[in-house]
Amino acid sequence: MNVDLHCHSNVSDGLLAPADLVRRAASQGVAVLALTDHDQLDGLEEARAAAREAGVAFVDGVEISVTWRGTTVHVVGLRIDASHARLGAALETVRSGRIDRARRMARDLETVGIEGSFEGAMRHAENPQMVSRTHFARFLVANGTVPDAKSAFRHYLVPGKPGYATHQWAALADAVAWIRAAGGQAVLAHPGRYRLGSSALEALLAEFRGLGGKAIEVVTGSHSPEQYRQFAELARRFGFAASRGSDFHGPREGAELGSLPQLDADLRAVWADWGH
Ligand code: AMP
Ligand code: MN
Ligand code: MN
Ligand code: MN
Repeated sequence: MNVDLHCHSNVSDGLLAPADLVRRAASQGVAVLALTDHDQLDGLEEARAAAREAGVAFVDGVEISVTWRGTTVHVVGLRIDASHARLGAALETVRSGRIDRARRMARDLETVGIEGSFEGAMRHAENPQMVSRTHFARFLVANGTVPDAKSAFRHYLVPGKPGYATHQWAALADAVAWIRAAGGQAVLAHPGRYRLGSSALEALLAEFRGLGGKAIEVVTGSHSPEQYRQFAELARRFGFAASRGSDFHGPREGAELGSLPQLDADLRAVWADWGH
């Protein structure tokens, strides 16, 4: 079964409207799809309706931005109740600093001679409240500063490079608690992407498990095949279920919907007891 439990619409930093995203997933053969926009639930209703039309089993999801020991990490919530008031209010507070952060990023880019990036990023953001580094990367590509988004994140927008602004996101304990309060399951997103040494990474996994985290992403767009193996092993060792998600943001931007390898058969899939 083709299950894709991580992707983004233009409600956050994806390129496609929620309904178009769902139709694309259907055409790629995805049978079970979760929409997991950053810190935002607004796309779920449209996506759910489109999934009903397209015959795709739909999972209400979200990807929450967290600051853990000074590092940004992402926690995906799956099967959340999208009308849960506490989750909605909490995400509103997580989102609220983005415009201010974008102004700080733009000021930093000005110090290396890149002008107009606040307005430029905003032109790419469907929803100004959700302006993200992805929108800055698209601006830097569009104005010819860099050839592609990957270079934008290599030379700018990351810690130590121009255009990075520190920001305090949610606490890990809060993010997991909101997801669980809304009836959902917490999944640590793309654990291979964090710049943590192996002991800090294992401390993160242990803390996440202690808080009630259920799964980690093993097969995801930003992991290498070597990382599929590494995180499959960590899922086994820590007793986590495993998840699979493309982290699709748009056509020709990273992995395609439903396109990645399947999980190893011995792993406990996070969707195993969902009845699909
Ligand atoms: P933000 O939440 O504004 O900090 O933006 C984070 C987003 O930037 C992620 O969700 C990805 O979509 C994107 N991103 C981060 N690092 C990279 C990278 N190395 N290459 C491409 N996109 C990235
Ligand atoms: Mn993103
Ligand atoms: Mn992420
Ligand atoms: Mn994502």
